[in-house]
Amino acid sequence: MSKLYPNLIDGELVTTATSLDVVNPANEQVIGQVPACGAAELDRAVAAARRAFKTWSKTPVDDRRAVIQKMAAAIDANFDELFRLLTAEQGKPHQQAQFEIGGCSAMMNAQSTLTLEETINEDSDTRLSRTRRVPVGVVGGIVPWNFPLLMAVQKIAPAILSGCTIVLKPSPFTPLTTLRFGELIKDIVPAGVVNIISGEDALGPMITAHPDIDKITFTGSTATGKKIMEGASKDLKRITLELGGNDASIVLPDADVQKVAEQLFWSSFTNAGQICVAAKRIYIHEDIYDELSAAIAEYAKNVKVGDGSEQGTGVGPIQNKKQFDRVCELIKDAKDNGYKFLVGGDVDPSGSGYYVPITILDNPPEDARIVAEEQFGPVMPLMKFSSDDEVIARANNSDYGLAGAVWTKDTERGVKIAEQLETGTVWINEFLHLSPFAPFGGHKQSGFGAEYGIEGLKEFTYSQVITVKKDALV
Ligand code: NAD
Repeated sequence: MSKLYPNLIDGELVTTATSLDVVNPANEQVIGQVPACGAAELDRAVAAARRAFKTWSKTPVDDRRAVIQKMAAAIDANFDELFRLLTAEQGKPHQQAQFEIGGCSAMMNAQSTLTLEETINEDSDTRLSRTRRVPVGVVGGIVPWNFPLLMAVQKIAPAILSGCTIVLKPSPFTPLTTLRFGELIKDIVPAGVVNIISGEDALGPMITAHPDIDKITFTGSTATGKKIMEGASKDLKRITLELGGNDASIVLPDADVQKVAEQLFWSSFTNAGQICVAAKRIYIHEDIYDELSAAIAEYAKNVKVGDGSEQGTGVGPIQNKKQFDRVCELIKDAKDNGYKFLVGGDVDPSGSGYYVPITILDNPPEDARIVAEEQFGPVMPLMKFSSDDEVIARANNSDYGLAGAVWTKDTERGVKIAEQLETGTVWINEFLHLSPFAPFGGHKQSGFGAEYGIEGLKEFTYSQVITVKKDALV
C-alpha cells in the first residue's frame, strides 16, 4: 500500500473514508493515495476559511508577508523530497522539477513583497477622497496538472497577502506535491487561512457553485474556464481565468540559426510540451527555413525521451492517459493527411508509461489540426512564411491569445511585430520567462484577468472609495 497524503482543513490533516489513486506516468504504477473529498469536506473547508477571514483580513500586512516567506522557506527546506515527488507524479525530468520547486519559493518570496497602495482621488478644500483595496473574502483556487505546485502557490501567496483566505483544489492527476506542501505549512499558517482539498473533477463545479466562496481563481483548459464563468455568474463571483494557448514563435531571417535552434526546441519541448505558454506553432522565414528546420531536427536527435527520474532524460512522459490519447490522435491525423514528419511520429503503444516520441512536422498547412489546435504535448509544427504582415495575420488567426515570441537581431522590427500580436505576453529572443512583477494573462479565449504583479494582487480585492466632505455642516 502506497502512502496516503492527507488534506489540510482548518489547520488539521484529514483524510476521507474513500481515496483516489495517483499514478506515475512514467510507469503507470500507483505511487500514492489522496482523499476523495465531496460536499461535506468542501463545506468544512469553506466554513474554516470564512472563520479565519475575520482575523486574517485584519492581520497587519507585514505579518501576512512573514507567513508567506516562512511557507517559502519550508519549500526550500524540503526541496529534495518535493522535486522527486513532483517528477514521480507529473513526469517532468528531475532538472525541470527542480526548476519548478525552486520557482515556487522564489515566486512566493517575490509576491510577498508587493504592496497595494491607497490612492488619492481628490484632496481639495471641500473633499478628501481615497481608494483603498479590501480583500474579497474566501477564494476557491482550482489548478491543473502541468505545474501543480507552482500554479497552487502562485494563487495562495497573493490571495493570503491581500487578506483573503483560500480553499485550493489540485488536479486529481497531480495532488501529491501540493498535499505534501499542505503538511509542511500546517503549523506555519493560522488554521483555516489555507485549506487544500483533493477530489475528482466533480469537486470543481461544487467549488464554483459554493455560496460562501466569493472568488474563483482558475488555471486550466478554456473549455473548463467557460464552465466556471457560467457557474460563477449565478451569484456574480469574481473570477480570474488562466486558460489555454496556441502560442506562435516567429523567426525572422536574421536570426542566428545554430543559437536559435536549441532555444526553439526547448520552447516547445520543456515539460513534454505541456506548458500553456510553450511555442505551439513555429513560423520560420523562408530564407532560413531549410537550414533552421534541419538544425532543430539534428538537435532533437540527441534529446532522450524517458522516465524523468533517470539521468539524462530531457523529455518525460505525457502526464496522463487522456492527454496521451489526445496527442496520439493529433499525430494520427497528421499522418492520415499525409503531412511530412522531420522527426518522430511513431508512438510505440507497448510497454508501460505514456511516452510520445519527440515529433516535428515539416510545414503542415495552416488548417491542419496540429497547427490550429492546442496540442499540449511533444509535437511541434514548423511552418514557412515570407513577409511580416503575412506571419502576423497567421499568428493572430486563433481564438487563443496567451503569448508569443519573435526571434531576431533587429529588436526594433521584433517589437514592431510584437505590438501587432493579439496576446497578453510577447517575448523577443527568449521564451517562458514569467516575472512575478509583470501581469500575466490571456487575450481572447486564453483568459480573463491576470496573475502576478500588482494587477494580479488586485484581483483578490475590491476597490473601496471613501470620501470625506471637509466643509460639511453637521
Ligand atoms: P482542466 O481544465 O481539465 O482541469 C483543470 C482543473 O479544473 C483541475 O483541477 C480539474 O479537476 C478542474 N475541473 C475540471 N472540470 C471542472 C469543472 N467543470 N469546474 C471546475 N473545475 C473543474 O485542465 P488540465 O487538462 O488540467 O490542464 C491543461 C490546460 O490548462 C491546457 O489547456 C493549458 O493550456 C492550460 N493551462 C493554462 C495556464 C495559464 O496560465 N494560462 C497554465 C497551465 C495550464
